[in-house]
Amino acid sequence: MQNPKATLDLSVVIPVYNEEKSLPLLFERLFPALDKLGKTYEVIFVNDGSKDKSQEVMESLFPKRPDVIRVIQLMRNAGQHPAIIAGFEQVRGEIIVTLDCDLQNPPEEIGKLVALIEQGHDIAGGIRAQRQDKSWRKMVSNLANKIRERITNIRMIDQGSMLRAYRRYIIEQIVATGGSSPYIPAIAHYLAANPIEVPVAHEERAAGVSQYNVYKLLRLNFDLITSFSIVPLQIFTMVGMGLSALSTLLVVYMGLRRIFVGPEVEGVFTLFAIMFLLISVTMTGLGLIGEYIGRIYMEVRTRPRVIIKNILEK
Ligand code: UDP
Ligand code: MG
Repeated sequence: MQNPKATLDLSVVIPVYNEEKSLPLLFERLFPALDKLGKTYEVIFVNDGSKDKSQEVMESLFPKRPDVIRVIQLMRNAGQHPAIIAGFEQVRGEIIVTLDCDLQNPPEEIGKLVALIEQGHDIAGGIRAQRQDKSWRKMVSNLANKIRERITNIRMIDQGSMLRAYRRYIIEQIVATGGSSPYIPAIAHYLAANPIEVPVAHEERAAGVSQYNVYKLLRLNFDLITSFSIVPLQIFTMVGMGLSALSTLLVVYMGLRRIFVGPEVEGVFTLFAIMFLLISVTMTGLGLIGEYIGRIYMEVRTRPRVIIKNILEK
C-alpha cells in the first residue's frame, strides 16, 4: 500500500515550543530508537515560535544527523496542533509518527506503533497507561474525554496522547481538511477505517515546564468540541424552547386568574408572564440562528494555520 508520494518508510514529526532543555535529552534517545527499527526515516522538528534558545539548540545539534533532520521554523506561536500539521505538509514517509519533545512519550515505544500500522491499522494511538501529569490536568482531560464521548461521534480511549502513528493517506486528509483550529487525534479517528489504541509508557517531563496553562487547554478542548459537534448550540435552543413552554403556561394561568380572580398588583405579573414568553421565544430564535451560523462557520474557516519562516535541511 505504498503511496507514490512517499519516498521514505517513516516520518517523525515533533512540535517544539520553548524546549531548549529537553532537546539534547531527546536527541540522545530518539535517534538510537529510530535507527534500531531498520527503516529509512526523517525527523521533522517544527519550532512553534519558541522564545527561548530552541532554534539555536536545534541548529547546533543538526550536524549530528543532517541526513535525517529537518527543522521547520514558524514565524510565531501557532499552537501544538497547527505546528504539527505544518510538519505533516512536508512529510515524505509512508508511516507518520507524532510525539512530544519533552520525552513524556518515550521514543522507544515508536516501534510498537509502527508495527501496528504495518499490520493494517491506519492509526495506532498510544494510551498513556500511567499518566505522569499534574492531577488538575488529568481531571480536565478526563472531563474533556467524557464530553467528547457523549456529544461527538468520535470514539477513542485517550484523545490527549500525542504518541501516535498514522498511515500516510490519513495525514494527507488531515492536511487537506484539518481546518484552522485542528485537534489532530480526533480528526484522524474521524477519518480512520481501522484505528487501534494500545497502552504506551508515559514519563515525567524531562526538563522545563508544560506549555499548557488553563486558558490554552480550554481553547484546545473548545476546538475539539466545536469542530465535531453543535450540541452546545442545540442545548441553548432547547433551553429556550423549554422556557417558552413554561412561560406559555404562566401566561395562560395569569390570564385565567385575571378573569376569574381579578387582576393582581395592577396587572404587573401578567405583564411579567408575557415578557417571559417573549424573551424565551427570542432565545429560541437566537439559538436557531446560532445553529445555522455554527454550520456556516464550520464551512468557511479557511485562514492559514501557520506561516513558515525558514526550513533547515541538508
Ligand atoms: N507545544 C507546541 N506549541 C505550543 C505548546 C506546546 O509546539 O504552543 C509542544 C511542546 O513543545 C511539546 C508538546 O507540544 O513538544 C506538548 O506540550 P507540553 O509538554 O507543554 O504539553 P503537556 O505534555 O503538558 O500536555
Ligand atoms: Mg508534555
